[in-house]
This record gives sequence, C-alpha cells and structure tokens, in this order.
Amino acid sequence: ESKRTGKNQIKEFEDESKHQILRTVEIEKALAQALDRNEFSLVYQPKVSLTQNRLEGVEALLRWNNRELGHVSPTDFIPIAENTGLIHPIGNWVMRESCRAWVRWNKSGVKPFTLSVNVSPLQFAREDFVESLQAILDETGMDPMFLELEVTESSMLSYEESTREKLTQLHQFGILISLDDFGTGYSSFRQLRELPVQVLKIDRSFIVNLFTDRNQEAIVRSMIQLGHNLGMKVLMEGVETSDQLEWLLNEQCDYVQGYYFSRPLLEKDVVKHVKSVTTYIEFGKTRA
Ligand code: C2E
Ligand code: MG
Ligand code: MG
Ligand code: MG
Repeated sequence: ESKRTGKNQIKEFEDESKHQILRTVEIEKALAQALDRNEFSLVYQPKVSLTQNRLEGVEALLRWNNRELGHVSPTDFIPIAENTGLIHPIGNWVMRESCRAWVRWNKSGVKPFTLSVNVSPLQFAREDFVESLQAILDETGMDPMFLELEVTESSMLSYEESTREKLTQLHQFGILISLDDFGTGYSSFRQLRELPVQVLKIDRSFIVNLFTDRNQEAIVRSMIQLGHNLGMKVLMEGVETSDQLEWLLNEQCDYVQGYYFSRPLLEKDVVKHVKSVTTYIEFGKTRA
C-alpha cells in the first residue's frame, strides 16, 4: 500500500513537472512575440515618504496579457525573459514607456516625483547599459534627477570593478540606485559599504511575519539601522496593515510601499492619486 502511494506521488510529481515544462515552453514562444503584439503594459505603485508624509514616487511594474495564456505574472515570465535574452528588448521597452509616462505626468503640472524602474541583473551587466539608458533619457526627455533604478542584490553579486564604475556614472547623472529585495540575496557588508547605493528596499517577506516571530522584529529593526548607519534611506515594501505602518514609523523607516496605501495604478490614475491624496498619515490616528 505504501509503495503504491509512493508511486502515485512520483507520478503526480512527474505530471506536475511536465506541466511546468510545457508552460515554460508556451510562455517562451508567446513572449518572443509579445512586444510586437503590444501585449505589455505598465502599472505604477506609489512609494510614500513617512518623514515628509507625501508621495515620494512610483515604481513601474510590468504587466503581460496574452490571448492564450491570459495574465502572466512577472515573477513567472521575467526569469524566462532572462534565460532567452528577451529581457533586453523588454527592459528597454519598460524604460522608454515609463519615462514617457513620467514626462506626461510632469506636463500635467503636478509636483515632480521619482520614477523607479526595475532593472534585471542581465541588463545591468551589459557593457552598453549606461549608453542605452542615456539614449532613452535623451529621447524621452526624462529628467535623470527623478529616475531611480531598482537593482537586486544578485546584480551586485558578480561584483566587479565595472559594476562600481557603472553605478558611479549613473550616480553622477543624478540617478538614484536602490537595492531591491534586500535581505533575500547575498550582498556582503563590503559591497554595502563600497557600492554607491542610496536606498535599501527590504523584501516583502520580512514584513509578512513581523509580529508572529519576536526575532523578526529584531532583524527588521537591525536592517533599518544598518541602512541608516551607512547613510542610506530605507524602504519597506509590502506594507498592508496599520499595525505594520505604526511599527515602521516607530523604527524611523523612511519610505513604505504596499497595498495599505495603494495598489499599483494605471498611468492615468497616478495623477488622480497625486491630486486627491495630499497626506498619507493622519497623526493621532497612529500612535507614532
Ligand atoms: P518587486 O520589484 O520587489 O516588486 C514588488 C512586488 O510586490 C510587485 O509584484 C507588487 O505588485 C507587489 N506588492 C506591492 N505591494 C504589495 C503588498 O502590499 N502586498 C503584496 N502581497 N504584494 C505587494 P509584481 O508586480 O507581480 O512584480 C513581481 C516582481 O517582478 C517584481 O518584484 C520585480 O522583481 C519583477 N518585475 C516587475 N516588473 C519588472 C520590470 O519591468 N523589469 C524587471 N526586470 N522586473 C520586473
Ligand atoms: Mg522593485
Ligand atoms: Mg522588491
Ligand atoms: Mg520583491
């Protein structure tokens, strides 16, 4: 009986991985045509400055809707785009489109805010990354002083002299660098000390069980202090509740992002959001 169960489990596992492989192949095929077929779009999630009680900026997040596959999550297709090299044209599209959106927001007369764009380690590793970014800035009229690149720890992993040179060059343009998904990768203290990174963006997984595990509070508190001691700003992502917000206010976290304040918005709703929400935290409601 137990042997049988074991066999069934193996069969289930095989079916499951076959299904996974088929899906990956399907995604790969569809992804190759997605740009030409205009299947991508962008949404923008607000980042709130707790110290200034106002919108700090928005992060561009890629969306893909395919006729056969439906809506596919970036966590599923970005790794495939990276494996196939499609990340380069897709990444350039994201950069160009989000910069165009920023220029349109800026023309609508609202106070300028930062645009954050996720950059894959593979894009960043390309020798011509800085030049192609510069070309997009020139073409779109995006002000580099309002651009922030979110790079994950793994882009820094292959920590070479060229990484530091690129970051320094970008920094000289006025572009901000934030270290995305901080805490999940392998950045060493040496990297944190030597790389010109201005913002630590603590991964959402750290807030999820903040109150269920005593040690978690100590860890997140230490991450915030580490960032501050290195002269960086700290952002907590995935904030969903007022309890979490209150805790972060107490710990002097600089920025937060998450469903508590806003889900990702369509381009046209960003200006509405900016005009309708003038303050985010009503002091007195929260204890901080
Ligand atoms: P990320 O850059 O860490 O983005 C945060 C993700 O968390 C987004 O998922 C966002 O929608 C989600 N999120 C934000 N607030 C909350 C919250 O309060 N609760 C929960 N449960 N989730 C929240 P999304 O849009 O599915 O993106 C997933 C990941 O895909 C991103 O993680 C990023 O690594 C990657 N990605 C998205 N767009 C791009 C892109 O244009 N280029 C590259 N290279 N990667 C991208
Ligand atoms: Mg990000
Ligand atoms: Mg992140
Ligand atoms: Mg993340």
